[in-house]
Amino acid sequence: MRITIKIGSNVLTRQDGSLDVTRMSALVDQIAALRSGGHEIILVSSGAVACGRSELRHIQHDLDSVDQRQLFSAVGQAKLINRYVGFFREYGIPVGQVLTTKENFSDTEHRKNQENCMRVMLENNVLPIVNENDTVSVTELMFTDNDELSGLIAKMTHSQALIILSNIDGIYTGNPEDPESRLISIVKPGKNLEEYIQEKKSSAGRGGMQSKSNVATQTAAAGISVIIANGNRDNILVRLMNDRDNTPCTEFLC
Ligand code: GLU
Repeated sequence: MRITIKIGSNVLTRQDGSLDVTRMSALVDQIAALRSGGHEIILVSSGAVACGRSELRHIQHDLDSVDQRQLFSAVGQAKLINRYVGFFREYGIPVGQVLTTKENFSDTEHRKNQENCMRVMLENNVLPIVNENDTVSVTELMFTDNDELSGLIAKMTHSQALIILSNIDGIYTGNPEDPESRLISIVKPGKNLEEYIQEKKSSAGRGGMQSKSNVATQTAAAGISVIIANGNRDNILVRLMNDRDNTPCTEFLC
């Protein structure tokens, strides 16, 4: 099975904003296990901006929002990919960094190049680690967030599944902190979740549950099953593959 896995900033960063290398290493262990089980994996990883922000704590003066994003992502992406390379090397898994912009998904020559780059990596057993090129993509060139990017990548690579890892188990019938709320485990095609989605979004990344739900609905409509799950739960990826019924998550059926 070919699976696109998206890891959100909140999974990869600690409370103090620093990179959670323990979590990262545990997720790499799981991805390596899935690969040994015969699955092909494409990783879409956020965390660059959050990681850069924590690296550059010494900057005291104010930066405008574009400067911040460009500077933090440039510094953070380098650190992030360096960590991934190190962790995957332990398993002998070669990885390749793919930094992209929205233009590469429009109907142009750029799209063909993007498609070709994904194809050649997968054919040669290289694990693609994709992120938005936040350093150069500004305003209209930007993806809504990496949830949108992961849906586009899943479609482009003809993945059979998309797993979106966040810091919450999935979509609830109300506020997740309310004991009355229940986790929605299955979403059938055509089901509208509007009434359940909470506006509140987590701190480190750009996305939120609304965006995840939209991306999941559109991606499932394209024939790819989508799972939203909690990347902070131990062994979540392996559990999702081996024991889905007993693993908290929201699955969008296609
Ligand atoms: N591309 C951003 C980063 O790596 C994350 C965007 C998002 O939060 O979805 O920091």
